[in-house]
Amino acid sequence: MSSAETPFRSLQQTEAVARFDLLDVTSYDVRLDLATGDETFASTTTIRFTSRGGATFADLKASAVNRIVFNGSTLSPDLVERGRLPLATQAGENELVVDAVMPFRNDGEGLHAHVDPADGRRYVYGMSFMDAAPTIFACFDQPDLKAPYTFHVRAPLDWTVIGNAPGKQVEPGTWEFDETPPLSTYFVTLVAGPYHVIHDEHDGIPLSLSSRQSIAHSLDDDADELFTMTKQCFDEFHRLFGIRYPFGNYHQAFVPEFNAGAMENPGCVTYRDPLLFTSKVTRGERIQRATTVAHEMAHQWFGNITTPKWWDDLWLNESFAEYMGNRVTADVTQYDDAWIHNGYARRQWGLVADQRPSTHPVAGNGAFDATAALQDFDGISYAKGSTILKQLNATLGDDVFFAGVIDHFTRNRYGNATMHDLFASWERAGAGDLGPFSERWLRTAGPDTLELDRAAGVVRRTPPAGQTEARDHTIHVTTADADGRWTTTPLHVDADEVTVDVPDDAAFLVDPGMETWASTLADDVSLEAFPRLIAATSDLTIRSGIWNSVRSGFHHARVSPESVVRLAEASLPTETNDDALRTLPFLIGTVAGLSHDPASALARLHAACRSLLDVATPGGTVQLGAFRGAVDSAADVTTLRTWLDSADLPDGVVVDADLRWRILIRLASLDAISRAGLDGELAAEPTTKARVDHARAVSGRPDAESKAWAWDRFTGSAPATNYELIACGTGLWQPGQESFTEPYVDRYLSELPGAAKVHSGWVLGDVTEHFFPITSVRQSTVDRADELIARDGLDLTIRRNLVDMTDELRRRLSIRTTFDTP
Ligand SMILES: [Zn+2]
Repeated sequence: MSSAETPFRSLQQTEAVARFDLLDVTSYDVRLDLATGDETFASTTTIRFTSRGGATFADLKASAVNRIVFNGSTLSPDLVERGRLPLATQAGENELVVDAVMPFRNDGEGLHAHVDPADGRRYVYGMSFMDAAPTIFACFDQPDLKAPYTFHVRAPLDWTVIGNAPGKQVEPGTWEFDETPPLSTYFVTLVAGPYHVIHDEHDGIPLSLSSRQSIAHSLDDDADELFTMTKQCFDEFHRLFGIRYPFGNYHQAFVPEFNAGAMENPGCVTYRDPLLFTSKVTRGERIQRATTVAHEMAHQWFGNITTPKWWDDLWLNESFAEYMGNRVTADVTQYDDAWIHNGYARRQWGLVADQRPSTHPVAGNGAFDATAALQDFDGISYAKGSTILKQLNATLGDDVFFAGVIDHFTRNRYGNATMHDLFASWERAGAGDLGPFSERWLRTAGPDTLELDRAAGVVRRTPPAGQTEARDHTIHVTTADADGRWTTTPLHVDADEVTVDVPDDAAFLVDPGMETWASTLADDVSLEAFPRLIAATSDLTIRSGIWNSVRSGFHHARVSPESVVRLAEASLPTETNDDALRTLPFLIGTVAGLSHDPASALARLHAACRSLLDVATPGGTVQLGAFRGAVDSAADVTTLRTWLDSADLPDGVVVDADLRWRILIRLASLDAISRAGLDGELAAEPTTKARVDHARAVSGRPDAESKAWAWDRFTGSAPATNYELIACGTGLWQPGQESFTEPYVDRYLSELPGAAKVHSGWVLGDVTEHFFPITSVRQSTVDRADELIARDGLDLTIRRNLVDMTDELRRRLSIRTTFDTP
C-alpha cells in the first residue's frame, strides 16, 4: 500500500455492533490462485450468511474487482468505495460471491511476499490482524462475526501450502483444506512457498515447523528444542484448562519480515524468523522465544476458542497470554528462570509505557475504531496487564482462577466474550466481588510509586496523579547488612505510609520479585551501596531488582548517569545471567551519551565488558553477551579490525555472521569502513539478515551521503523492507554525529506528517519511532515536536509514537539538566 490518502476506512465499533445485530455468517469458501504473477493474486470468495434484512457492507481491499454476484444478481465493481462494498441484504439466506485481484504486500500485512536475497526463492504468508483480511479475501471483517472457512489454493508446483485447517495437495499445485471450526477474520492465514517443513506428533496432535530454505539448517538445529517445549506446553495447558486443543494440526511457521513477535493464528502460528537463530545467541534470547511459543499456545484457548468481542478487550487477550506464557515456560520447560528474564526484558517496557503522557488504563479504552485500538497495543497491554493477572492469581489461588477461566471457555466456546464475561466467570467460581479490584488495577492508568523514606522509617506509597482508589500491594522487601547479606521479609502496603525497620546505613529494596505493579525507587543510601552489594551477590532476583529500581530512578532523573555507570562497572564483571546484559544497549546507547564525558563513560563500560570477558566461561552465552557489549562500546579501531579478522579473540568467541556484522556496524559508525567495503560484505553473503545489518551500518556512517541514503528510505524515494527501515532510523541517529544529523531534525519534524502517505500500519509506527531525532537532546527540539503533536489532522499512529518519543527526549533533557551534563 502506498501513495494513497487513507485509502480505506477503519471499522468503527458502532458499525460493528450494527452489523453483528444484522448478520450471522454461515460459511466462507475462499479460492486463491497464487500462481498468476508476482504482484497480485486471484481471490474468489463465497460468503453465505443470514440476515435480518437491511443495509450493510462487506470489506474488500482489492487491487481490482472482476465480478460481484449478490443473491444471483451481478453488482457493479464500482460500488466498492474505500474498502467497502455496500449490500442491501434480504431477510433470511444470502450469498455473496466476490472475484477480485488482490495485492501481494511488502509491509508484513495481508499476504506478504518476500524474495529471499540468498537464493531468489519467493515466500508468502498471511497476516490478517487487525484489519488486513480484506486484502486477502472479501469478508465481514470484525472479530465477533465468526464462521468456518474452507480454503482452496492453487500455487506454484514447488510450493507447500499450510493453512488454519489440515490440508493436502490433491494434484500438482492444487491444495484443498478441511473446513475450520468457526474463526474470526483476524486470525485466518495461509503460509505458502518452497518452505522447509519438519513434522512430529504429540498426544494425537500433528505438529510441524517451517522456515525458508536458506535458514533450514537453523530450523533443523533447533527443531528438537521447539518440538519439546511445544509438547510440554500442550500437556500443561491441557492440565490447566481441562479443554483439549481443538484446531487439528499445530503448525509453527517462521516467516520473513514479520512485524510482531508472532501471531496466534489457530492451527498455523506465524513467528518473525529472526527467532530462528542463524548465529549463536544468548540463553535470554532462547527464553524470549520459549515464552513466545508458550504465549501463542495460550492464545489457542484465550483468543482463539474464545475471542474478544471488540478490540477494546484486546488487552485481555494479550495480558492473559503473556501471563500464561511466562508461567508455563518457567514451570514446565528447561527455562525455569523465565520470570527473571521477564524482569530484564519486559518490566521497564511496561513501566515506561505506563508513565508516558499516552498512558491509559489497562482495560476499558474506547477503541472507537480498529486503528485507535492498535495505538493501545503496547507494554501496558502485555507487561502491566500480565502482572495484574499474576496478582489476581496470587489472590484467588489456582483453583478459583482456573475454574473461572474454564467456565469462560465453556460458555463461550468458538464464540466471543468481554472482560465482563470473564470476571463474571471468576465470580461464579468463588472469586467474590471483583469490582473493586478491577477499578483499582484495570480501569485507572499509571503505576503507584513505592519507596523508602528512611528518615520517617516508612515505605511510602504515592499514587499517580488523579488516582483516587488506593491500591494495596502485597510484596516482599529486602535489606542488606554490612556484610552484604540480604534479609527478605513480607510487607503489606495498605496505607500511604507503612512502618518498616531498616538499620541506618542498610540498603533497602522494594519488591525485587516484581510481585506488584509499581515503580520502585531506591533512596540515596541504597544507591550508594548498590555497586558494592551487586558485586557481592549472585541472587538473580536481587540483581534484577536493583537494576529495575535504578532504571526507574534514571527514567525520573533521580539517578545520575554517573551512578548508573558505576553500578554497571560493579555489576558487569560479576554477571552470570546473560539476560542482565540486555541492559548493555541502554547503557551504551543512552546512559553514556548523557554522561558528563560520554567518551570516558563508554570507555568505562567497555572496560567492564572486557573484565567480564576475562572471567566468563569460554564459549558460553555470558561471554557472548559480554563480547557484543565490548564490540558496541569499542573506540579502538585496531582492536575491532583484529577481531574482524578472527585474531586475538577471547578463547571461545567465534566471529559468526551476526558478530561479523556487529563489528562492521561499529566500524562504520567510527568511519573506519567505506561504503564500498560494506557493499562488498553484503554481496559476499546476501541474506535477509545481512541486508538489515548493512542498512544499519550504512546509515550509521558519519557522512552526509550516508545520512541521505537513510533518509531516502524514510521518504520512500528508495525501497526498504520494514526491518531495513528500523535499521536505517536506528543507524541515522548516533551521539557524536550531530554535524551530519542536524539537518534531519528539521526534516523529520516537517516531513513526518507526509510519511502517512508512504507508510502505513505497523511500519508507519516504526518509522515515526525510529527516525525520531533522539540524539537532539535540546529544548528547542522538544518544543518543536510538541508543536507538531498539537497540530490538527496528524495521523493517529504518527501522533501516538511522536508523543512517546518526545516524552523520552524530554526525560533525557531532564537528566542532562538535573545532573548538569553537557
Ligand atoms: Zn499475543
